[in-house]
Amino acid sequence: MPYDVVIIGAGWSGVIAAYNLSKKGYSILVLEARNRVGGRAMTYVEGMPAPIDLGCSWIHGYKQGNPAKELAKEFGVTAKLPNKTDNLIYGLDGPLPTEIASRLQSNLGAARAAAYDHAQLNPEPPSSSVPLSEHLFSPSSSLFEDCNQSLAASYARSFEIPLGAPLESISLRWAGWENNFAGSDAAPENGFQPFIEKILDAATKNGAKLQLDECVKGIRNMKDEVVILTSKGEYQARSVLCTIPLGVLQQDPPIFSPALSARRQETISRTHVGVLEKIVLSYKETWWPSASLVGSFTFLPSKSLSPSESKIDPLTILLSHTIIVASFAAPSLPNPHPTLLFYISTTPARLLAKFSDDDVTHAAHEFIIERFKVTTIASPPIASVRTNWLKDPYSWGATTTSSIIGEGRSPLDFLELGKPLWGGKLGFAGEHTEPNHRGSVAGAVISGQREADRIGTLLKD
Ligand SMILES: Cc1cc2nc3c(=O)[nH]c(=O)nc-3n(C[C@H](O)[C@H](O)[C@H](O)COP(=O)(O)OP(=O)(O)OC[C@H]3O[C@@H](n4cnc5c(N)ncnc54)[C@H](O)[C@@H]3O)c2cc1C
Repeated sequence: MPYDVVIIGAGWSGVIAAYNLSKKGYSILVLEARNRVGGRAMTYVEGMPAPIDLGCSWIHGYKQGNPAKELAKEFGVTAKLPNKTDNLIYGLDGPLPTEIASRLQSNLGAARAAAYDHAQLNPEPPSSSVPLSEHLFSPSSSLFEDCNQSLAASYARSFEIPLGAPLESISLRWAGWENNFAGSDAAPENGFQPFIEKILDAATKNGAKLQLDECVKGIRNMKDEVVILTSKGEYQARSVLCTIPLGVLQQDPPIFSPALSARRQETISRTHVGVLEKIVLSYKETWWPSASLVGSFTFLPSKSLSPSESKIDPLTILLSHTIIVASFAAPSLPNPHPTLLFYISTTPARLLAKFSDDDVTHAAHEFIIERFKVTTIASPPIASVRTNWLKDPYSWGATTTSSIIGEGRSPLDFLELGKPLWGGKLGFAGEHTEPNHRGSVAGAVISGQREADRIGTLLKD
C-alpha cells in the first residue's frame, strides 16, 4: 500500500506538516538524511553547562503573532523573553564611550530606515541591481552623522549577521520588503531541538513513521503515485512533500523525473542562500570584564586584512571583521552560565570555513583574550563547538537571504519555489518557500501548515 504522503526532511517545515497531516488520519512517512531530527534547529549539549542552539535560537516576533508561540503553548514548552542587559561596542582601544556607541547604534538604525523608505516610498524605486550598501554608505547617509566614518562603516557590517550576505549583495529595492514577525524575541527553554522532537513524537503517536539516515536521491512521477528513491530503498506514495533546503536543491538535488521546469530550475539557481555561523566557548568560570552586566559585545575590526595576504590564519580573520559575541553570563535569560557565543557573518565565515574546528575555536579563545586585553591568563574553554552550515551537505548554507542584486530577482522567487507540481502531487515547503517569513522558523512552520492543508484537501476523495 502506498503511503498517503512521504515527507522529505524532518526540520520545522516537515515535522509540522507530518503533525498536521497525521492528525487528519493520513499515513505518513518522514525520510530524513541526517541521524537526528530538527535540521537547522540543532541544540548542542556536549560538555556545555546548558543546551546551546547552533541553528535557530529565537522565536522572533513572539508577541507579534509568530505561530511558534502557540506551538510552544500546545507542547508545554516554556519560552523566555530576555531581560535587558548592556551592549558594549569595542573599538581599537577597548569599549567605546557610551555616547559614541549610542550614536553608532542610532545612526545605523536611522540609515536602515532611510534605505527602506527610499526603496518603498520613492516614486521611482531603485533598480534591482542597486545594492543596499550604495544607500547606506552614501556620503549623505545618516550613518555618518556626527561620528567617525570608519567606526560607523565598521559598525554597519554588524548588520550583515542577520542579513546573511554582504551589504554589497543585497538588493536595495527589496530590502525591508518582507512583512515578517519582529518586535520581541523569546527563547524556548532547553532549546529548539527538544521542542521540535515533542511535535514529532505527537506525529508518531498519530501513526506517522520516521526514518533517519535515509537520504532521498530521486523522486519519480508515475501515473497514479509518486515513487521516492533513497539511499536504502524505494517507497510509493499518493503525494510527496519536499522540504529539502534551497542550498541542497542548488548543489546536490535528488533527481526529479520528469525534470523540474526550466523556470523552476532558473529560480532555484538565482535565489541566494546566505551564511551565518556560530562559535561557542564555555568556560569553568567567567573571567571577562563586566560579565554580570553585559549581554553582548560588538567588536569592530582591530586589524585590516590586506587582499595580497596569501596566508591568513583564523585569528587574523576574526580580528579583521566585525564580530558580535553574546554572553550567557549576563542575566538576560534565567540560569546564567560562563559561555560566549560568537556570531560570524558571511565574509569571515567563508574564510574560516576551510579551517578545522580546533583551529577556529582556539582562534576564538585567543581573539577574546586579545580584545578584552586581559593580563591574567584565561584558562582554555572547558567545551567548545563551531558550526559550518556552509559546508553542511544537508543545508549548504544558513538560510535564504532577502533578494540579492540582479535583474529578474524578486520576492516572487520564494513564491515560485513553493508552487506544487505534478498536478499537486509534489509539494514544496521550507523557509525558502515563504516570501514574507523566509529565513526563519516562522517561515518553515507556516510553509508546513500551508502544504499540510493543501495536501489534505488534495487527498480527500
Ligand atoms: C545559524 C542559524 C541561526 C538561525 N537563527 C534563527 C533564529 O534565531 N530564529 C529563526 O526564526 N530562525 C533562525 N534560523 C533559521 C531557521 O533555523 C530555519 O529557517 C528553519 O529551521 C528551516 O526549517 P526548514 O524545515 O525549512 O529546513 P531544515 O530545518 O533545514 O529541514 C530540512 C531537512 O531536510 C533534510 N534533508 C536535506 N536533504 C535531504 C535529502 N536529500 N533527503 C532527506 N532529507 C534531506 C535536512 O537534513 C533537514 O533536516 C537560523 C538558521 C541558522 C542556520
